Amino acid sequence: MSLAEITEKLHMAEDAAGRPRGSVSLIAVSKKQPDARVEAILQDGHRVFGENRVQEAAAKWPDFRARFDGIELHLIGPLQTNKARQAMELAQAIHSVDRPKLASTLARLAQEMGTCPELFIQVNTGEEPQKAGVLPAEADAFVKDCRGMDLPVAGLMCIPPVEEEPSLHFALLAKIAARNGLAGLSMGMSGDFERAVMQGATHVRVGSAIFGERDTG
Ligand SMILES: *Cc1c(COP(=O)(O)O)cnc(C)c1O
Repeated sequence: MSLAEITEKLHMAEDAAGRPRGSVSLIAVSKKQPDARVEAILQDGHRVFGENRVQEAAAKWPDFRARFDGIELHLIGPLQTNKARQAMELAQAIHSVDRPKLASTLARLAQEMGTCPELFIQVNTGEEPQKAGVLPAEADAFVKDCRGMDLPVAGLMCIPPVEEEPSLHFALLAKIAARNGLAGLSMGMSGDFERAVMQGATHVRVGSAIFGERDTG
């Protein structure tokens, strides 16, 4: 599908949810996509992108930034503490704050750098052992700890289990965010972003539906 078609679907979902058009930020997930496809979307005027690996983002985005103004980069994948500084230098938002050690590293670097990207805390709503994120029962305490470290927590992020109805997970994430006074909800991907918008998503992360299948090699 084209960017225009996805944007149209997003507008329909915003209408259906009774929310203003443009209230949901469309993050075009460009990981593992050929540069030509990313460039085409940039030429169309899109400026908000997501990458899941620091190394790949560092290889790709400085060149695009030199040629296109106003790029906003979101890091959406797991972040190792030894890549935290580079991530903070590259990205305007990090969606995968998922453990105390990462939070304290970000806090230390934020003090040192005098700036910090917007942060989303990843919640493992499906309580899947192999998946990153804090457990729902631990989320309130973790949000509090991050705020105690002066981290700019914008909201929460989740990746629902593949075999379950995502709306239930989106609703759970929205509930945890609401009780913690957090406005940001990073949820919804190619297959379910419209359902995420119904549940209050502020940021949807859409890759293959915009760009086509990824290079899996
Ligand atoms: C790859 C990825 C996406 C985008 O997935 P699509 O199904 O291609 O839309 C969204 N969120 C995260 C965390 C991802 O790693």
